[in-house]
Amino acid sequence: MASPTKTITALVLRRTKLGETDVIVTLLAEDGSQVKAVAKGARKPTSSFASRLELYSVAKILVAEGKNLDIVKEVRLLEGNEALRNDFFRSSASAPIVELLAKSTYENQPTARLFALSRAALHSIATTPNDPLVATLAGLLKALAFLGFRPSFTECVGCGDTPELAEGTRQTFSFFDGGVVCARCAAHHETTLVSAGVLQWCNTLLYSTLQEIEAYQVPAGVLEEALVFTNEWIHLHLGISMKSLTFLFKNVFNSSI
Ligand SMILES: [Zn+2]
Repeated sequence: MASPTKTITALVLRRTKLGETDVIVTLLAEDGSQVKAVAKGARKPTSSFASRLELYSVAKILVAEGKNLDIVKEVRLLEGNEALRNDFFRSSASAPIVELLAKSTYENQPTARLFALSRAALHSIATTPNDPLVATLAGLLKALAFLGFRPSFTECVGCGDTPELAEGTRQTFSFFDGGVVCARCAAHHETTLVSAGVLQWCNTLLYSTLQEIEAYQVPAGVLEEALVFTNEWIHLHLGISMKSLTFLFKNVFNSSI
């Protein structure tokens, strides 16, 4: 009897070599759940899968249920996103998005809006005339919100007040309790200081559309500090060490953070 099949629209998050010619693709399906499937012969130059299941591709995929992993049967490419593989900066800017998704999503556990967001963020990184890392930061913050890990950038986590985030100042912030802490509550929380500009920009990006974000000019220093902040947040709340962000700090920002 033939195995049951299903058709999914999915984004390729990761490719892992299997044996001589096969590839295991880690996918983000349209419902925000993760799917792993074997693309048999995908590393053969003659394979029809080879060019359709590249990293960052979006495709309609027919999979058959296998004993352990699903098996890719047919692939129709929807978006190749070649620019994300061929351009160093756009590629470096895309990697954190798929790394976070690959490490924070699970099989049979849907997350609403995550797929549409990821697709839009990668499209923005591929095409924006401005710094693609702004879309990276926005994509990470929005994905964290959809996954249930949204930092509170404006409301005190102790009392709900909104402390003034004056430009050029540093604001008390609790990574552990999840957001800004006002002066009155500071004594009851373990806090650190985060630039008010970083918190303001993160909040703006979180609540703007990716289309609006393409027109924003985020100062380079703020962008780097905001990505460092996001890296720490992901590490503390999701237990994920983001290799792609470490790569960015070393090779794009040339800092040793
Ligand atoms: Zn407070």
